[in-house]
Amino acid sequence: MLDNFSSLQRSSRCAELSDADIGKTVTVMGWVHKRRDLGGLIFIDLRDVSGILQIVINPDTQPAFQKAERLRNEYVAAFKGVVRGRGEGNVNTQMKTGSIEVDASEVYLLADSEPLPVQLFDKSLPEEDLRLTYRYLDLRRPALQNTIIIRHQLMQAIRQYLNAKQFYEIETPILMKSTPEGARDYLVPSRIQPGKFYALPQSPQIFKQLLMISGFDRYYQIARCFRDEDLRADRQPEFTQLDLEMSFISMEEIFELMEGLMAHIFKEVLDYDLATPFPRLSYMEAMERFGCDKPDLRFGMELKDLTDIFGNTEFAVFRSALESGGVIKAISIPTAANYSRKQMDALVELARHQGGKGLAFVKYQSGAFEAGISKFITDKERDTVIQRLNAQDGDLIAFAADGFDMACKVLAAVRNQTAEELNLIPKDTFAMAWITDFPLFLYDEEAQRWEPAHHMFSLPKEEHIPWLDDPARIGDIQGQLYDMVCNGMELSSGSIRCHRYDIQKKIFDILGFAEEELKERFGFFLEALKYGTPPHGGIAPGLDRLVMILSNAASIRDVIAFPKTLKAADLMSGAPSEVADLQWKELHLKPVE
Ligand code: ASP
Repeated sequence: MLDNFSSLQRSSRCAELSDADIGKTVTVMGWVHKRRDLGGLIFIDLRDVSGILQIVINPDTQPAFQKAERLRNEYVAAFKGVVRGRGEGNVNTQMKTGSIEVDASEVYLLADSEPLPVQLFDKSLPEEDLRLTYRYLDLRRPALQNTIIIRHQLMQAIRQYLNAKQFYEIETPILMKSTPEGARDYLVPSRIQPGKFYALPQSPQIFKQLLMISGFDRYYQIARCFRDEDLRADRQPEFTQLDLEMSFISMEEIFELMEGLMAHIFKEVLDYDLATPFPRLSYMEAMERFGCDKPDLRFGMELKDLTDIFGNTEFAVFRSALESGGVIKAISIPTAANYSRKQMDALVELARHQGGKGLAFVKYQSGAFEAGISKFITDKERDTVIQRLNAQDGDLIAFAADGFDMACKVLAAVRNQTAEELNLIPKDTFAMAWITDFPLFLYDEEAQRWEPAHHMFSLPKEEHIPWLDDPARIGDIQGQLYDMVCNGMELSSGSIRCHRYDIQKKIFDILGFAEEELKERFGFFLEALKYGTPPHGGIAPGLDRLVMILSNAASIRDVIAFPKTLKAADLMSGAPSEVADLQWKELHLKPVE
């Protein structure tokens, strides 16, 4: 028999109680986390969103005791009683409420529970698919609740900061026209207009720019974005961005605002003092020094170019890379000279996985190069290599000989992996940076055309604008583009936008839009540019990644209340799912045979 709830009133959440409440009569409610029967007493660990509180029920207290005997894990119950100190020797320092307990005189059973289909509170967690199937139960886990609460705190910190900076929070449509971020759209068929489709926004990009044209000056939105891509471990088909845009703004001002925002977030959520201003690296510098455009700056192990040192090399692999215009780059991996064959093979495998040909090694030990390709390296080459890499005795040196991009990619992967393996990455620090001076266009060899490096609404650097008219210089044009990175993750991209119709039009031309297609897809936007567009720019940090960083979560699925699997499925509700024949019909759709 369940008790009536209507006469009960909760006096506080479980873990809000402390020594200061000793002697007070309280009513607490929650889930039975654990029940222990000890020497006639019943102990209940009662759990709610605030944490766990110990309740004690004495056999002399009837009918409370009798009721408490019926409680099982995950039953929902209420307890009325007096808060008391646990007394010397019984204090649990691991628990927030470890010094108190409630001596219950009344017990109410509010809901019982079948045994849970998924064991959530054991030492090891059940497999993720099962947890996702019962996500509403999985979300009872304090660790997961904590992450979702950090997400909430993050959103509040964002709003606080931006509201004070005169931003307006404005919503943009979810059902809209196909958008320009370059991924595949999720499409929604229109019932009212047969054969037509809405697209879900890949981002609110066009709308936020239109809001600048409308004169709102500063906009933000915690915006859901949808991209129908094959998922990788760190992606979700729907994700959240802090989307923002500002008028009459320079790149410098955007950096300052974002640095202030990030510092505010880290202070509010983690009480962590983020160092500002963030270091800045050009795209080229990031590639040269770290092999990628999202370098993890928490540790060194920088890549060095050794191409000039090996100009006369005898080593065939280096020779052939140089002859085909490639480079020789290397990193010195601290203390890794004792790596086993197996560990080095694993690194070679990693290099191949990146698309590289492999890796060459030498061990720097007792003042000499040993093993690997050491016999191909002259003493003179060796000395210069050691000097350039600032290698220390005991290091393992890994060489990549390949085209510039591939050598960078391979060594960046080796750098990250070995730093992790060797515990060289300081914990609990956050290394932010701006990456700038990206090319505006990248050439897609396969499709034989230029693609925007960020998106097609970004402005070239002022001094490169004339090159838009010179086909030979398209690849040299740099954009007013910037990425914000943190601990080796790209947190956001943004740019100063084209506010001039003529420049925007040239960019569309370079991207090869036929007049008709341009009109069809972006006509409204191009037209808008003609009616007094203020200079403007913006950025859009990925919120999910930011929560991952703030909560130290290992997976993007841990920072989203109801995430999807790698197959873009919601295992709990069963989405995506079949729909009734009538729905096909109403949408004027037919399945392909
Ligand atoms: N809309 C862009 C993106 O989603 C961000 C921006 O340029 O503001 O990457």
